[in-house]
Amino acid sequence: MDIIQKAFLRRALSVEEIEAVLSTDRYDEALFKAADLTRQRYVKRDVHLKGLLEFSNVCLRTCHYCGLRRENDGLKRYSLSPDEIVGLAKKAATYGYRTIVLQSGENREYSVGDFCKVIENIRALNLSVTLSIGEKSENEYRAYKEAGANRYLLRIETTDKPLYKALHPSMSYERRVKCLKILKKLGYETGSGSLVGLPHQTAASIAEDILFFQENDFDMIGIGPFIPCENTPLSAAQGGSFDMALKVMALVRVLMPTINIPATTAMETLRPNGRILALQNGANVVMPVITEGEYRALYRLYPGKVCVGDTPSHCRGCISGKIRSINRDISVTNGDSERFIIRKEIRRAV
Ligand code: SF4
Repeated sequence: MDIIQKAFLRRALSVEEIEAVLSTDRYDEALFKAADLTRQRYVKRDVHLKGLLEFSNVCLRTCHYCGLRRENDGLKRYSLSPDEIVGLAKKAATYGYRTIVLQSGENREYSVGDFCKVIENIRALNLSVTLSIGEKSENEYRAYKEAGANRYLLRIETTDKPLYKALHPSMSYERRVKCLKILKKLGYETGSGSLVGLPHQTAASIAEDILFFQENDFDMIGIGPFIPCENTPLSAAQGGSFDMALKVMALVRVLMPTINIPATTAMETLRPNGRILALQNGANVVMPVITEGEYRALYRLYPGKVCVGDTPSHCRGCISGKIRSINRDISVTNGDSERFIIRKEIRRAV
């Protein structure tokens, strides 16, 4: 049986088979068709729009690929106050958002109590809350869950252990995997993901990333191309390609039919209309930035980020128009993945 047919029918491939798909363009046409067909069948036409609130660019980590790394002295730092965060979430609700994604560098700018209040206040607006704030203790994760947080994004970035170690000084791969397991145990709708095109990353290691996502049965997977950033150790490295990131994302859709997959902003940075292309090849989520003013440009994970000069309301209108132009609908639900809904139903039934 052809590899793409096998992926489509069995939702399972070996490392060697994934490697074969990634190493040639021979399978591309069939892969992209299979990804779109899978998306149509399992998560339908709806696109979830989730408001991304980048509330602090302070980070204590030094990941080699990231512009927010602590050692980047060239970046003006900011942390919004709890009131400012809730105020922006309130505005986003008036634009029609049903989910707020609270994202920041990994820092200690907020006490656990203050951040729990932020979550409670946003949940009181009838909004779902996704957190993307890095590695925390189990107690801290639990406190945020009890305050009402619904989801957590923690990308593994790469499952290649030597590469992970080289890119993340003073961090531990095992600790990161443990955090993901704790998040799942606590009942978060849990997302992970990876960077594609990192220096020394191989097709085999990307294949292992995809199998890791399947084995851990995540609810959401974000795939982003690596884009070199100034003032980082990888500033002169060759970046990843849009085409390879799109292929990896399409493979994830075929192998994990019911999860949420964002069309990432990094894809739009590498290719005009990259998010729309992603939506046509497996993705079903877009996360427009809802931060305002200069903060939009200061959350500089990588250069060339799109829409930094726009307002949140303009972004919402612009992406909504593009989504409708490809005959897709804007979801009116709170954005849970089909995977998570099915998981909850099964838990209730048995
Ligand atoms: S990737 Fe995350 S943890 Fe690492 S430096 Fe950037 S913001 Fe900090």
